[in-house]
Amino acid sequence: MKITALETLRTKEFSNVLWVRVHTDEGTVGLGETFYGAGAVEAHIHDTLAHRLLGKDPLRIEALNRVMTDLPMAQSSTGVEYRAASAIDIALWDLFGKVCGQPVHQMLGGLTTDRLRVYNTCAGYGYVRSNNIRPVDTWNIGSDEGPYEDLAAFMTDAGALAESLLESGITAMKIWPFDPPAQENRGLFISAEQMRKAIEPFEKIRKRVGDSMEIMVEFHSLWNLPTAMKIARALEPYEPTWYEDPIRMNSSQALAEYAAATDVWVCASETLGTRFPYKDMLDHDATHVVMVDLCWTGGLTEGRKIAALADTYHRPFAPHDCTGPVGFAAAVHASFSQPNTLIQESVRAFYTGWYRELVTAVPTIRDGHVLPMEGPGLGVELLPAVFERPDLVHRKSEL
Ligand SMILES: [Mg+2]
Repeated sequence: MKITALETLRTKEFSNVLWVRVHTDEGTVGLGETFYGAGAVEAHIHDTLAHRLLGKDPLRIEALNRVMTDLPMAQSSTGVEYRAASAIDIALWDLFGKVCGQPVHQMLGGLTTDRLRVYNTCAGYGYVRSNNIRPVDTWNIGSDEGPYEDLAAFMTDAGALAESLLESGITAMKIWPFDPPAQENRGLFISAEQMRKAIEPFEKIRKRVGDSMEIMVEFHSLWNLPTAMKIARALEPYEPTWYEDPIRMNSSQALAEYAAATDVWVCASETLGTRFPYKDMLDHDATHVVMVDLCWTGGLTEGRKIAALADTYHRPFAPHDCTGPVGFAAAVHASFSQPNTLIQESVRAFYTGWYRELVTAVPTIRDGHVLPMEGPGLGVELLPAVFERPDLVHRKSEL
């Protein structure tokens, strides 16, 4: 079998999402995806990777992963080179599953459990839909697409939101009410008034539903270390489950200092690319939960190594979502195949909303748990309507 074409697709509406389809001489096609900088990733795939991959055996996944990342400018990052390699790697695993007639989680070693707990990342329908990736600006609150405008909800009525999630069996939620003051003060300091306001959602949740809801706190790497530590201490009475990316994830020493200053777990980080920066974080006792985005860190090939690395350090694994629908499916396959998966991220405004405009299947979520994907490969394809969209940007490099 050999790779005969690399095809990329992106749309103006969902401008962060890039899909890759890997075509073969036997007619089987693998589907992969990445998120952010879709145009730049597309260019890298066609300008640099195509001539390295066309004509190669797509089932030599490890070897091709090395071919894609063995570039002088692709050094342990979630940059364009790694996002491109991730999308193609995911497509190769999809292809492998299709060739063998098995789901990707089986190809990765099989199910470790029959269902996995999810938490709801409280984004709304329009969150990160536009190209601008600065925080707060991309919240796009106010869409009336459906009942799950959860970002507006956590900012205004977090207690009712927690109750609504519990009604559907979801017992963990992630929120980021500290982003507005971080953006306002460039992450340098937080006033007493800002602190009070950002803590309000935590008060409302605990008051309304007690400790039946777990709360993960996302900080999006917006704070300096002393302010992040001040916020960490202020939130401790509300017993959050984890603090995610409180500072820039480029100093294991600084994050270790943070981790030592609070009783709450630290989660790091989907912004890390490849297992090497994770090892550095683990070596320095800087993180408790290992979060990975397979669409950024090097695909399923690298993601499963990071999960194994976390397990070697007795740390749980927690795959990221809040990006695109194929990446979500890939994350669910990875989650089920890894014995140290703690919980899977999910966004109900996405999996009940725009994901369904684009793909044939989304993972089933029932009673706060996700079920394994069915069918060979990832079990998800782009809908025919995607190929007909007037805003589609389509490129193909052929053998
Ligand atoms: Mg995050």
